[in-house]
Amino acid sequence: KAKQMGKNRAVFYDKYLQEEADKHIEIKNELVNAFNNDEFVIYYQSQHDVDTAEVRGYEALIRWKHNTKGILMPYEFMPYVEKFGLSLELDKYVCEKIYEHFYKLRQDDSINISINISATSFEDPEFIAYVEEKVKNNDVRTNQVTLEITEDTLIKNLDASFINRIRALGFRVSIDDFGTGYSSLSYLTKIDFDEIKLDMTFIHAIQNSKKDEEICKLILHMCNELGANVVAEGIETREQLEFVKKEGATIIQGYFYSKPLPYEEIFS
Ligand code: C2E
Ligand code: MG
Ligand code: MG
Ligand code: MG
Repeated sequence: KAKQMGKNRAVFYDKYLQEEADKHIEIKNELVNAFNNDEFVIYYQSQHDVDTAEVRGYEALIRWKHNTKGILMPYEFMPYVEKFGLSLELDKYVCEKIYEHFYKLRQDDSINISINISATSFEDPEFIAYVEEKVKNNDVRTNQVTLEITEDTLIKNLDASFINRIRALGFRVSIDDFGTGYSSLSYLTKIDFDEIKLDMTFIHAIQNSKKDEEICKLILHMCNELGANVVAEGIETREQLEFVKKEGATIIQGYFYSKPLPYEEIFS
């Protein structure tokens, strides 16, 4: 009897696995089609000077305009992009889109654009080769472009060559989601960077307890000691803004000023 049950379970399990496999193939096909049909859109979220509120730049954030499911957010599809080995393709796609957008928008040379780079591309020599090629053959104002690499990626792969090559081209480098990956802070001495983006979890925690507030202060002070520009992301309230301003953040990004918006809504 037990044997029979085990067998039934195995059949059930196989069926489940088959369904999962089918679902994955479907998502993979959809993703591949999304690239071919140009279904991704870049939204931009403004970044403001902490003192004057002037716009200093924008962070590019990807969305998937799915033909039946509507606008999908990164957390809904980026895990699949990574799983199916499409991260490099996605990062290049994003860079091309941004290049097109800002090629049309050359008049303003004070605006910075921040681009998120996936862990895969950070490690893949093909990505840096692509960037170097792009810069060599096109008019790219690299000093107005910041590449954001998450702290987590940096810690897992402490190879400064990508960073050095990026900076040699004139790009700025930002450590994204700062504070979430820290197992050790020693990596900070091994790489050159221009900016630190304090993760929003710290900012959202300051109202929780005195302890959270102290940690947030400590990180902001440390960033200042390191001579880095500090972007505070996820600022939603006046109180949060005043707090990070007092503790030394230089740039503010968050719903307090604006949500990420499509290119057309900001630049035309
Ligand atoms: P991230 O780079 O840390 O981006 C910040 C996230 O915080 C964005 O989420 C943004 O919409 C959200 N945000 C901004 N202000 C506020 C606020 O005041 N409150 C709250 N609650 N959230 C705020 P989004 O656009 O969903 O992106 C999530 C993550 O997906 C990004 O985190 C980044 O890691 C990744 N991602 C987004 N676009 C790209 C891309 O083009 N390429 C790559 N490789 N990754 C991307
Ligand atoms: Mg980012
Ligand atoms: Mg971040
Ligand atoms: Mg993030």
